[in-house]
Amino acid sequence: MKILVVEDEERVAHFIQKGLKEEGHAVDVYYDGEEGGFYAEVNDYDLIILDLMLPKKNGLVVCREIRERGVSTPVLMLTARDSVEDKVRGLDAGADDYLPKPFAFEELLARVRALLRRRSEVKTSTLKMADLELDPITRQVTRAGKGVRLTTKEYSLLEYLLRNPKKLLSRTLIGEHVWDMNFDPESNVIDVYVSHLRSKVDKGHDMQLIHTLRGQGYILTDEAPFH
Ligand code: CA
Repeated sequence: MKILVVEDEERVAHFIQKGLKEEGHAVDVYYDGEEGGFYAEVNDYDLIILDLMLPKKNGLVVCREIRERGVSTPVLMLTARDSVEDKVRGLDAGADDYLPKPFAFEELLARVRALLRRRSEVKTSTLKMADLELDPITRQVTRAGKGVRLTTKEYSLLEYLLRNPKKLLSRTLIGEHVWDMNFDPESNVIDVYVSHLRSKVDKGHDMQLIHTLRGQGYILTDEAPFH
């Protein structure tokens, strides 16, 4: 999943970013309300973690503005400890949940999971392409009924491909969704990961599902891809 963190305390921001990355998410961080609000609108995130007190524009204003502009991405607001007033104002502004600071990472993670789950009731059903299956709840992947063991990043990549079946996905698009905004589309990291994934998913099977469209990107399909 792709998550936006808007938090001006660098230490907190990096702690959140590091933890979420370890969970396999792509995480972008911005340090003020203006930039955070801008990117919340232009990029397609699965979740936004928004601090309440931010320079340039506070979290309440950011939240209200993105809602007015039609962004329906779930927002988890970080508030001051036990401030009922902050909580009410956050929810009024269109936040989906709030978490008082300071918090344990496990607590943040539980809220994140709940919001992502709520966001994607549809997204929780098993993803399939031919005899390849991925269960987003158990994170189990099988091909022709046999378990496939993937690393966290390979799993995220496969999930992204399965959520966008039969669509040509450029390296830039994959980089943005599976890595993060600092990803260099010129690097060959994606090609390397796709090649690992392909050897685990397609090798030894008659039907190849992960196809390369030279110079354009990748496509997951059980039909003949347009070469
Ligand atoms: Ca702050």
